[in-house]
Amino acid sequence: MSIAVYPGSFDPVTYGHIDIIQRSAKVFDKLVIGVLINGAKKTLFTPEERIEMIEKVIGHLDNVEVTFSDKLLIDFAKDHHADITVRGLRAVTDFEYELQLAQINNKLDPELDTMFFTTSTEYAYVSSTIVKEIAAYNGDVSQLVPPYVVEKLKEKYNGGRHE
Ligand code: ADP
Repeated sequence: MSIAVYPGSFDPVTYGHIDIIQRSAKVFDKLVIGVLINGAKKTLFTPEERIEMIEKVIGHLDNVEVTFSDKLLIDFAKDHHADITVRGLRAVTDFEYELQLAQINNKLDPELDTMFFTTSTEYAYVSSTIVKEIAAYNGDVSQLVPPYVVEKLKEKYNGGRHE
């Protein structure tokens, strides 16, 4: 059985991530999405909120599960008996960082390989950071994230404010 993990911050999940999830779910018997801690990023949503949003939007995929981990990626992959890490490449700008990550992970665990999926061009410019920037100013992000995530962003940024 081929098992892959797809790690990320998913703060929040976007149509770009969903594209990678749907396409990689067709390639592996099982895909475990890992909401992991990226020390370099301060997140808007809690891990529980990020998991809930992902579950809501990928509920129809029965070979995909979502979980949180505060472990190193190689240990998270081991816990799930996965020997492949899935990552997405949007543009050349992602390449250097992703290559370094893949090489370090392979050094730490030679059994773990990374497979890159290139994003569909229509989502190449989408990032969680851009989504948050637009949503913070009440902009329209409905082409970038699913309706459920649009609502959660509204709640976050309008939190406490009632009409
Ligand atoms: P991280 O904090 O690990 O970078 P992200 O949630 O930002 O987590 O991204 C997780 C993975 O998804 C990364 O491999 C990233 O390149 C990829 N990704 C993010 N946005 C897109 C997108 N629009 N299209 C394809 N891949 C994407």
